[in-house]
Amino acid sequence: MAEITLDSVTKRFDTTTAVDDVSLSIADGEVMGIVGPSGCGKTTALRLIAGFETATDGTIRYDGVDVTHVPPENRNVGLVFQGYALFNNMTVFQNVTFGPKMHGVGKTERRARAHELLDLLDIGELADRAPETLSGGQQQRVGLARALAIEPRLLLLDEPMTGLDAKLKHTLRRELGDLLSDLGVTTLYVTHDQEQAMAMCDRIAVLNDGVVEQVGPPADVYESPANEFVANFVGTSNVVTATVTDDVVDFGFAKVADAAVSAQGETRLAIRPDDFVVGTGPIDAEIRNLFYLGEHVQAIVRLSDDTELTVTLDRYEDGELAPGEHVELDVDTGRIHAVAQ
Ligand code: ATP
Repeated sequence: MAEITLDSVTKRFDTTTAVDDVSLSIADGEVMGIVGPSGCGKTTALRLIAGFETATDGTIRYDGVDVTHVPPENRNVGLVFQGYALFNNMTVFQNVTFGPKMHGVGKTERRARAHELLDLLDIGELADRAPETLSGGQQQRVGLARALAIEPRLLLLDEPMTGLDAKLKHTLRRELGDLLSDLGVTTLYVTHDQEQAMAMCDRIAVLNDGVVEQVGPPADVYESPANEFVANFVGTSNVVTATVTDDVVDFGFAKVADAAVSAQGETRLAIRPDDFVVGTGPIDAEIRNLFYLGEHVQAIVRLSDDTELTVTLDRYEDGELAPGEHVELDVDTGRIHAVAQ
């Protein structure tokens, strides 16, 4: 277990700056998520921390010790990559004992460790199987057991759930989340799936174009996005321009009072789809599209000035609404946030 610190880390490839002056600290035992769109530098950040890439500038420390130039084999890091191939010429059990064997762990201990991990991950009965005979979810668990078997100082997960079906992702998310907090292993979880990261991580770092836009517990990042990029990337947001005078917000399409917004004057405001009150209110909205998402219904509505908003409807109470119909909306004034552009 270790505390990981990145101090002004930059990684350039020719003309591309993949990671741009990133400073980030991952506490001992913390599960940190790195989320961001494709190409924002997530994998490069992970590879720098693992030692597969060397920073162009800046310092990476494990427990305060500079490891910037230490090769990966000397960092004791457990890795689970998307489609990370298991050794097909070995059984599941041999896959899990291989790492400890390379680290010089004695036979009795490595066998005990492998049994313990396979049981913990509920795949004890697969010990003698060949990896290629396993399902994707089972292989994922073997990959995890193999990564944990070396008792890593740090566990790095890069899109470990890609390719798994939604139900299995859900199960593994819960199991993995519980397991990581039980083990107290410092973990970096890299994914473009912000929902998965929010469910599993103690904190998430939102990366955009190699730059960290915001770091915080999932709820803080969701409830108080630092800027427009975060508001739009983490969950769905309506970002609109409004004029704030004291506690009155003039959206143009409606005015609401008693709002607690940190900014004054013309400002960009973020409103989550579920922060509208549907039924009565000063905003007349025409329903354009309805998306049934299972737990709720998402509506795209159009206002009189052609502004389009995404609004969450209650699938029971608003279940009769159809495209073309009009509905009155209000805004939950306690939930409006000013966001930097
Ligand atoms: P994805 O979600 O698509 O995997 P990512 O956020 O993990 O993306 P990276 O793979 O870290 O992004 O890439 C960040 C940027 O650095 C991209 O523009 C990529 O093309 C570039 N890059 C990454 N590795 C190299 C390399 N070895 N040589 C040149 N450019 C690279």
